[in-house]
Amino acid sequence: MALIVQKYGGSSVADVDSIKRVARRIIETKRKGNDVAVVVSAMGDTTDDLIDQAMSLNSRPPGREMDMLLTAGERISMSLLAMSIYAQGESANSFTGAQAGFMTDTKFGAAHIRAVKPDRVLKTINQGKIAIVAGFQGINSDGDSTTLGRGGSDTSAVALAAALNADVCEIYTDVDGVFTADPRIVPTARRIPSVSYESMLELAASGAKILALRCVEYARRFEMPIHVRSSFSSRPGTLILPEGVDTSSIPNVGTDTPRAAMPAPRAASNER
Ligand code: ASP
Ligand code: MG
Repeated sequence: MALIVQKYGGSSVADVDSIKRVARRIIETKRKGNDVAVVVSAMGDTTDDLIDQAMSLNSRPPGREMDMLLTAGERISMSLLAMSIYAQGESANSFTGAQAGFMTDTKFGAAHIRAVKPDRVLKTINQGKIAIVAGFQGINSDGDSTTLGRGGSDTSAVALAAALNADVCEIYTDVDGVFTADPRIVPTARRIPSVSYESMLELAASGAKILALRCVEYARRFEMPIHVRSSFSSRPGTLILPEGVDTSSIPNVGTDTPRAAMPAPRAASNER
């Protein structure tokens, strides 16, 4: 049995129908015999909308209040996702970053993860339930909520996967993985089946918006395999692996079903 951490970005949980679809996918993974912990982003443009509201009231909002506000986005998606999982016949507990044991420094808006102590997440998994964790957030030594910086849920997912010693961290987005170029511009662009952390870091640094730089650095440090893939298909995406690790050792990679039956592949993400 594998332990799989799945992260769903804002574009994968943009509305209630998407949440239902994601819940179904999580349940499928669980019913194949895997333990599953999920990290979720805020729905669609929620974070941007909250920032706009804050700025309309105060052009220099206090960092503490801003983080209090923004952590609410992920609480909405995590609890709705848990409810949808119950409605489809499995049990799930959702956790804020603090409840899931994400301890950070005190830098509001750009906090660094200092430690992850996922006791409650583990307990939930050991009870045969699905654990759902709010991405992008933690708690500092003063007991205040913090956020990790825009796009921080990817880092939350890898950090949780490392703390749980998971077999793979799957990052679900609205594109089919990492491509050799933007297929809208270069029609011959192909999906890269697997890539090293080093190459992925170069891609991230050169502006490829697939994964946050900090998330890839974190994965390299803990040698956590990442699978970037689309939540809109079951095709394999791109594996980001430590040197010498064989792609066949990674669980739940999916299958290349004939194109005709699947939505067209996309490579330009709407994710932030
Ligand atoms: N919701 C946060 C953002 O939009 C975190 C994330 O999506 O990773 O930046
Ligand atoms: Mg987001």
